[in-house]
Amino acid sequence: MEKNYNIVLVGVGGQGIVLASDILAMAALEENPENKVRTSQLKGMSQRSASVIVHLKFGPSVDSPLVTKGSVDALLSLELSEGLRYMDYLNEDSIAIINNEINIPPVIFRAQKVEIDPSLCYGCGNCLADCKVNYYFKGNHDFLALNSPATSVINGKCVIQDSCTGCAQCFHACPRSAKRLLENATYPEMNQVASAIKKFTDNVFIIPATDWARELGNARAANVLLLGVLLGTGRLPLSIKTVESCISKLIPEKLVDTNLKALRKGVEKGKEISRTVFEKPVLETD
Ligand code: SF4
Ligand code: SF4
Repeated sequence: MEKNYNIVLVGVGGQGIVLASDILAMAALEENPENKVRTSQLKGMSQRSASVIVHLKFGPSVDSPLVTKGSVDALLSLELSEGLRYMDYLNEDSIAIINNEINIPPVIFRAQKVEIDPSLCYGCGNCLADCKVNYYFKGNHDFLALNSPATSVINGKCVIQDSCTGCAQCFHACPRSAKRLLENATYPEMNQVASAIKKFTDNVFIIPATDWARELGNARAANVLLLGVLLGTGRLPLSIKTVESCISKLIPEKLVDTNLKALRKGVEKGKEISRTVFEKPVLETD
């Protein structure tokens, strides 16, 4: 390799982004022990459904582990709107491969507001006990109050505090159904995502990676399938064989078979993309 390769992998917690980047990092070293490989992970709130981004750079002279905006060779997103969130890493030559899975992170709900219908609320306070937003879970259904709930009763009516996350946990306690979410947070349509990303690059492909992986018996192999698509397009300077060998080393034995199948399915789909969209792959992968 004469130049460094920059890739950003994004998605939400629980989708295997870090594992996918580990596979690539190991493959980059196995392919060429002279390669410098650097990676940086930012895991939102380190929990399921929180936003996750991993930067990975490899090549002859990698300094910082962070990919600068506008400089990725490839953006892989396991979640539709996460691809949109990080589109400013793209440039006109980049490729973006985005899973069409919708996995709405809690942060989206935080953008929502709870509305209380004053004609229904009579200030009984039932809903207060169910708000655990400011509480710390000690285990065995035991909570330690760190602060007051995000809802309280003032002058005979329920009010919502700024700390309300819009989680809706307290709604079922209301005998009058006086609380509801304001529908001010909307999820982007697939064509909105595609046209927004196309402002950065024409090479954007939104694919049903999770569905394809599910057909192979394990929807969670979508991360590896996405790697396969990138390999198949010829836009990743690693060989399929090396990536397969790293999958066998990094993934638990009982899951290796399905993941190898997912990789091959991805490669096949990536080759289709390459044949129909690009005149020829930029790099050969076999
Ligand atoms: S919606 Fe959630 S955070 Fe807001 S008041 Fe109800 S339980 Fe608390
Ligand atoms: S919102 Fe419902 S549960 Fe909460 S105080 Fe009002 S009537 Fe009671």
